[in-house]
Amino acid sequence: MEIKYNSEGLIPAIIQDAETKTVLMLGYMNAEALEQTIDSKRVTFFSRSKQRLWMKGEESGNFLDLISIKNDCDNDTLLIKVNPQGPTCHKGTDTCWNEANKQNFGFISKLENTIEDRIKNADSKKSYVASLFEKGINKVAQKVGEEAVEVVIEAKDNNDNLFLNESADLLFHYLILLQAKGFTLKDIVKVLEERHKS
Ligand code: AMP
Ligand code: ZN
Ligand code: ZN
Ligand code: ZN
Repeated sequence: MEIKYNSEGLIPAIIQDAETKTVLMLGYMNAEALEQTIDSKRVTFFSRSKQRLWMKGEESGNFLDLISIKNDCDNDTLLIKVNPQGPTCHKGTDTCWNEANKQNFGFISKLENTIEDRIKNADSKKSYVASLFEKGINKVAQKVGEEAVEVVIEAKDNNDNLFLNESADLLFHYLILLQAKGFTLKDIVKVLEERHKS
């Protein structure tokens, strides 16, 4: 791996959670720190304030277990993927930008948050989610069943548009049912991941 160190013999290393893809922190490495990172499989920086090698977690125990190291397009920045053993920032937060390091399903997560919000601040006159939730869990579950049947019906036809729309209906109502039962998609993914291991 060709690496361009700066005039101080350092290269910045962006630390990313290998699983969630959240950026955890930024640190600097010299050649020795990089070597120790590879040998120990735990991220080690060169601390500019302490002017010595610093294995992240040496005091806190919140080590960064090494998954992979990648050079950028012009060899002057590293991207290091890790499994963090605890909060990465010394202030106790998951990341140095005070962001939560959690599994994120992009727009689906945003939709889950909206559903949660509608259920909490139930205004059943304005919100479809709130009005459905108000009718009770059996009604929500029944709605999932209906949408599932509609997906089955559309799967038999050759109308992709209808099939996609009924699929969206099913997923949407399924997300509401999960919330009504006190779960989110993350809980289901966890079950699937457990199965995948065996
Ligand atoms: P640790 O490496 O977690 O044992 O922390 C030891 C010391 O390193 C802390 O007291 C901070 O001075 C520093 N430190 C730890 N984590 C960070 C971080 N994410 N960014 C900057 N400095 C840190
Ligand atoms: Zn670059
Ligand atoms: Zn920090
Ligand atoms: Zn439908």
